[in-house]
Amino acid sequence: MSLKFDIVVIGGGPAGLAAAYELSRRGFKTLVLERGRRPGSKNLYGGRIYMSSIEKICPELSKEIYKLGRRVVREVIMLTHGGTSLNIEIESNDWRGGVVTSLTRFVEWLAQKAEEAGACIVTSAKVDAIHVHGNRASGVRCGTDNILADVVVDAEGVNRILLEKAGLVPRLSPGDVALGVKEVYRVDPREIEKIFDLEEDTGLALLALGEVLDYLTGGCFMYVDKSHIHVGAVLYLSNYARFRRTFPEVLDRLYRLPMFRKVVKIGERVEYGARLLPVRPLPRAEMDGLVTIGDAGGYLVHIGPIIRGVDYAFVSGICAGRAIAELLEKERRPPSLASFRSAFNKYVRETSLMRDIELFKRVYTYYEAEDIYSRYVKFLVDFFREYLEVKNGVKSLNETLYMSMRKHGLSIWGLAMEYLRKFRKM
Ligand SMILES: Cc1cc2nc3c(=O)[nH]c(=O)nc-3n(C[C@H](O)[C@H](O)[C@H](O)COP(=O)(O)OP(=O)(O)OC[C@H]3O[C@@H](n4cnc5c(N)ncnc54)[C@H](O)[C@@H]3O)c2cc1C
Repeated sequence: MSLKFDIVVIGGGPAGLAAAYELSRRGFKTLVLERGRRPGSKNLYGGRIYMSSIEKICPELSKEIYKLGRRVVREVIMLTHGGTSLNIEIESNDWRGGVVTSLTRFVEWLAQKAEEAGACIVTSAKVDAIHVHGNRASGVRCGTDNILADVVVDAEGVNRILLEKAGLVPRLSPGDVALGVKEVYRVDPREIEKIFDLEEDTGLALLALGEVLDYLTGGCFMYVDKSHIHVGAVLYLSNYARFRRTFPEVLDRLYRLPMFRKVVKIGERVEYGARLLPVRPLPRAEMDGLVTIGDAGGYLVHIGPIIRGVDYAFVSGICAGRAIAELLEKERRPPSLASFRSAFNKYVRETSLMRDIELFKRVYTYYEAEDIYSRYVKFLVDFFREYLEVKNGVKSLNETLYMSMRKHGLSIWGLAMEYLRKFRKM
């Protein structure tokens, strides 16, 4: 069967649905094809959506997003070594740490918004190929159906299988991605508030590095949501061969730490899953009639503990929707790639997306340095433990610092050089 739409969107995740919402509300006939059985069923992330860019481009929708979860008011970075954890905690009622919510809840909400705006969302519909004629994409094949469209929006996520099939991007290599594994615990909201000392609408984000992941690149996380707690680990795949544990073993060890132990005590495990996420900026593949957004378009920033995937998937979707709508209204024919890029850049400039991606390109290699997850973590934990613990007499700050640095092969001169070579760029 052959069908014709103004726009066909591949993938009903945050990026695809945001584009579909924007295009449909401007009156364009938009079809979303999602391989999952229902919107949200195939989507997985850590637990937090940063809000600053969403607030800028969609202030009304951002109010609704805040209601989907808990506003992060407390953030903890936990450095772990030798059975000890050093916690760096920041707490403020006006902290802009985003919202902790489940991605399924967010995607279900966005799908409803897109449908109310007029989008047609078909689930259990796996796209098999993008039709390319000459230098222009003209539609997609989904089973036995050929769907023609003025613009194909590829929002298929990080794996980019269709783009790879079309010869537009190379196959992902282990160095490009990390593997994320997570569990979700259901907990009575009142218990959550009592145990973590939170209000009805406030939440907590925690990231742990070092021993919890055998000092390898990556880390573990905990996000405290309305009535769920999300716990997981992210390991750079370039290190997988050296990983001596299974992920369940990593999580078991995590649950021995006091902050995490509370979760298992009070909650019931209701979900688990795994997925890849980029650790390097992925090259973008576009052509006349084909626009790529979200993870598929490389619109994700992963800088140390900060992962901005969902907000930038949403922002790239909304801005792509605005650009396509503007061009289709003005030119009344399928837009060229050049005109799309210039319109997209105009809309996206309202946010920090492009600047953040440029920064990501400059600094991502520094976050692959194992020293950050190993030597520096061990040094900081040992130093604070030595200095603060009273075993016999009180210790001098300088002497403890000197001894701890020596123990971990660090020197002031070496650190200064390291700072000049690497860290000042971070
Ligand atoms: C462990 C982990 C932790 C993370 N933590 C965070 C975090 O805390 N905060 C944050 O902002 N980001 C986080 N991210 C990143 C975030 O999940 C992604 O950046 C975001 O989901 C990208 O949205 P998307 O719409 O581009 O892709 P996706 O969410 O992957 O959606 C793509 C959709 O396309 C569908 N699809 C794929 N192929 C086809 C096909 N052939 N036909 C039809 N449908 C198809 C899929 O089923 C899916 O629904 C994390 C990721 C992982 C793995």
